Amino acid sequence: MKTELLKEREDSVCYNSKNKEKKMKCDGNSVSGSVSQRACVYAGARVVLNPITDAFHLVHGPIGCAAYTWDIRGSLTSDSENYRNSYSTDIREKDVIFGGEKKLAAAIDEIVVAHSPKVIFVYSTCIVGVIGDDIDAVCRMAESKYNIRVIPVKAPGFSGNKAVGYRAACNAILNLMGENNEPKVLGINILGDFNLAGEMWIIKNYFKRMGVKVVARITGDSTTDEIKKAPTASLNIVQCAGSMHYLANQMTEKFGIPYINVSFLGLADIKASLTNVAQLSKDKEIIKRTKELIETEEKQIEETLAYYKKRLIGKKVAIYVGGGFKAISLIKQFRELGMETVMVGTQTGKEEDYDIIKEITNEGTVILDDTNPAELERFILEKNADILVGGVKERPLAYKLGIAFCDHNHERKHALAGFEGAVNFAKEVDLTINSPVWKLI
Ligand code: SF4
Repeated sequence: MKTELLKEREDSVCYNSKNKEKKMKCDGNSVSGSVSQRACVYAGARVVLNPITDAFHLVHGPIGCAAYTWDIRGSLTSDSENYRNSYSTDIREKDVIFGGEKKLAAAIDEIVVAHSPKVIFVYSTCIVGVIGDDIDAVCRMAESKYNIRVIPVKAPGFSGNKAVGYRAACNAILNLMGENNEPKVLGINILGDFNLAGEMWIIKNYFKRMGVKVVARITGDSTTDEIKKAPTASLNIVQCAGSMHYLANQMTEKFGIPYINVSFLGLADIKASLTNVAQLSKDKEIIKRTKELIETEEKQIEETLAYYKKRLIGKKVAIYVGGGFKAISLIKQFRELGMETVMVGTQTGKEEDYDIIKEITNEGTVILDDTNPAELERFILEKNADILVGGVKERPLAYKLGIAFCDHNHERKHALAGFEGAVNFAKEVDLTINSPVWKLI
């Protein structure tokens, strides 16, 4: 039986008719009762801040919120492992009645005594938003008591959607940067890569070979000191636009740093991004080295990609990912492999993202914003998709429907960015789509 759409969801779902006038309803709060796949405000903030490897994360709320930690939002480090721990004030009924500020102050004391941290991020979650603990005051007092940074991140889950959490995290990063008036250096900040499986290392290595200095990585594999230096860079490159446009805009306003959008997923986007950065440097040597890098890397993977393309051509893809930037890159990357996107959706896409998606997908492609399992199931079956690309919450859905799945989120183990990432991606898609298991179902 076909699942009917909830009336309130009708404007957030469409078949691509190439009608530019008809806009997608997006960038709002989830419809109550629709069982959105989207995570909460706190989760959005945690995604962005968690990869800072030497930071401490203290969740002021019930222990349940603190379950959302490194184990769910994995990212790799080349240095400290602090960020893999999570701390919670474990708010109970008594604290709800009498307030949790004392408990929060005691938890900060405990972390400082045990670990001598440089920075602690203190997240307020739903219940703290309801009882109204003054976490700003507690953090301020701890800062002056210990002379370290203790930064409040106001993220009660009910206060909006995941994108509101991104913004709270960006404000915390700005707070950490402070008023940096040091002179500018010729270098870039990489915004919006979280080093889930080593992507930041791949990207940074490309820039090293090009001769471009990377000042700060925000936030994959970064450190507190590195982020404090970010205001000295002369250009920001923004990969995950959904989470980082706000920060990039604020840094333009506050520190005069311009930004460009980039993507390191799929050959076309990788080449365009590296070339763009090289050209903006106006340095002939950098431009030359970038051209050579692209030629060498492309040549190395040409044959392998052609092999996978032969095995994947004509397959149909359903995509459901966090931001518009990733969805757009994935549509192009699948096209490079001869595959057609028949369904595409995002958790936090903006109107302009959906305009691009309409432009680059075929007529009839299903487009959805902030969807739920019932809609995903309906359209995957209706469009006869061979594979679903998503994250941890989408995996069981694909397997229950008996179709292939590719994790493009925090659970994956292989880097999917850059030229080597393009090969890893094609290999993973091939392994799951052409697995013999599907013939047994
Ligand atoms: S902040 Fe609220 S919505 Fe988010 S995990 Fe905690 S209780 Fe759940």
